[in-house]
Amino acid sequence: MTSTHDAIIIGTGQAGPFLAQRLAGAGMKVAIIERKLFGGTCINTGCTPTKTMVASAHAAHMVHRAADFGVVSDGPVSVDMKLVKSRKDAIVAQSRTGLESWLRGMTNCTVYQGHARLESSKEVSVGSERLTADRIFINVGGRAVVPQMPGIEEVPYLTNSSIMDVDFLPRHLIIIGGGYIGLEFAQMYRRFGSEVTIIETASYLARHEDEDVSTAIREILEHEGINMRLNATCIGFSRRGEDILAHVDCVSGYPEVSGSHVLLAVGRRPNTDDLGLTEAGVAVDKRGYIVVDDQLHASVPGIWALGDCNGKGAFTHTAFNDSEIVGANLLDNDPRKVSDRITAYALYIDPPLGRAGLTEAEVRKSGRRALIGRRPMTKVGRAVEKGETQGFMKIMVDAQTHEILGAAILGTGGDEAIHSILDVMYAKAPYTVVQRAVHIHPTVSELIPTMLGDLRPLSDAAAAPQ
Ligand SMILES: Cc1cc2nc3c(=O)[nH]c(=O)nc-3n(C[C@H](O)[C@H](O)[C@H](O)COP(=O)(O)OP(=O)(O)OC[C@H]3O[C@@H](n4cnc5c(N)ncnc54)[C@H](O)[C@@H]3O)c2cc1C
Repeated sequence: MTSTHDAIIIGTGQAGPFLAQRLAGAGMKVAIIERKLFGGTCINTGCTPTKTMVASAHAAHMVHRAADFGVVSDGPVSVDMKLVKSRKDAIVAQSRTGLESWLRGMTNCTVYQGHARLESSKEVSVGSERLTADRIFINVGGRAVVPQMPGIEEVPYLTNSSIMDVDFLPRHLIIIGGGYIGLEFAQMYRRFGSEVTIIETASYLARHEDEDVSTAIREILEHEGINMRLNATCIGFSRRGEDILAHVDCVSGYPEVSGSHVLLAVGRRPNTDDLGLTEAGVAVDKRGYIVVDDQLHASVPGIWALGDCNGKGAFTHTAFNDSEIVGANLLDNDPRKVSDRITAYALYIDPPLGRAGLTEAEVRKSGRRALIGRRPMTKVGRAVEKGETQGFMKIMVDAQTHEILGAAILGTGGDEAIHSILDVMYAKAPYTVVQRAVHIHPTVSELIPTMLGDLRPLSDAAAAPQ
């Protein structure tokens, strides 16, 4: 059976549904296709469940710290993982069903369920159905990489998806990968009560961050008793009785780590391998990401790629922004583009890291004359009052234009406070705008103007042109 539409959207992640609303609202006949869970990664196996569980872990942590605040709690404290999971499941289910019913009730929009495949540049199959349209929008997201290494099939490894079904406390969780996803799960499970070991090839965690940020993250996690195996590459797995052994290639330390469970957090790959892209002539890069231009057109006219599958972002906010860019170009005669976007994200360990723009290393590499301001969280009144003084904030400014180049706030409220910097960066206003702003006391943000009042040049050697 063939049906004709004005637009076909593949995937109901963080771009597809909002684009569907825009196109259908403009009177187009839209088909949107989902093969699994409405809402994709963010709602089902990414942001929403992890942040829900981070909140449970934070509660457990604060109960353990109660005495620091003068709160006396006699008797044992325990975490009921079944209840942690059911709280998470309820929040996820509400988002997922809300999104699904919103899409199903959308005027001019038809929902299809099943795996979509491009049969040509204008035709998509979903099971026995054939849909045609002049415009096809691909929003298929990605999935966890499962590296092919000896023994991998012999151990019941977990990924960010399958760990969502865990309703018990792993005795010892081995996490392969010290990136953003691995670190969030590491702290969360440690706070629930598991022993946790992170195995990471690089010499430091969150390897895209500056070394001072990475070191502070490591100190925070080690302080909570998380075991670190840095400069150590996991090369295979085997079983020893009930235990899983992760075999490690390393210069120092034991060549194996023994634990009860293993979580793979070694990266993500786009869901583009079973989409019929070759048949439709759509170009992908060597890692499988769909090649797009600044306005998200793929290599074939009439096809766009949005969200994680285009390799231009790896976040919910970047996927959502992709839908805004495509909608603005198609419907508003507004030439928005990906390169207008400033890098910004958070790492949701506790305290969180909020990041905007360039890292200090990137600023130094650029060779431009720059100024830097830093402030430890021990000198932020709000952090002291809350008993959460780990971390620091820093900001880099162009010495000539006075535009803010980048910032990192690793500390309590860092994920929120970073926005007062990000918005000024979008405004392309000089840093003096924030420096002279009167921020509310007592907040973390109130010390951003103070930090900006104490800028110093980056060292001559480091600031030299590359
Ligand atoms: C553990 C974890 C935590 C995260 N935390 C954060 C966070 O705190 N903040 C943040 O910004 N980002 C976070 N992310 C990243 C974020 O989840 C993704 O960047 C975001 O979901 C990408 O959205 P998307 O629309 O590109 O794809 P997805 O959300 O993955 O959606 C793609 C959809 O397409 C469907 N699909 C795929 N192929 C087909 C097909 N052939 N036919 C039909 N349907 C198909 C999939 O089933 C899926 O529903 C996290 C990710 C993980 C894994």
